[in-house]
Amino acid sequence: MGAGARRPGGQAEVAYPDEEVHGVASRYVVAPSGTPWSARYVTGWVGLNRAWFSAALADPGRAAVARGIMLHELAHLVGLDHVEDPTQVMHATSETTGLGDGDREGLAIAGAGSCYADT
Ligand SMILES: [Zn+2]
Repeated sequence: MGAGARRPGGQAEVAYPDEEVHGVASRYVVAPSGTPWSARYVTGWVGLNRAWFSAALADPGRAAVARGIMLHELAHLVGLDHVEDPTQVMHATSETTGLGDGDREGLAIAGAGSCYADT
């Protein structure tokens, strides 16, 4: 990920040092009791390489891959990490275009957590 500059209104401009990086995601987690079991996702962001996505989404041959990358980054945002199975959208380098069974299972687990108004 490149250096970012915060824009008014909370949007960040992300500089991509490598044009081959199409997207990045970051999430902010707190652990009120200091243990991993108390971890709560508070906020996060997804950055997409505007030039690459503009071209890819206009190209019928690459649009599905671009959507897969968006799914990948959004899944990072809600807590999923990379997996080794190249058929899953959460594989680090595959060009999978849709969610696999493992992706769905991970999202279901992430979505089953409690919501906290005090964090
Ligand atoms: Zn990733």
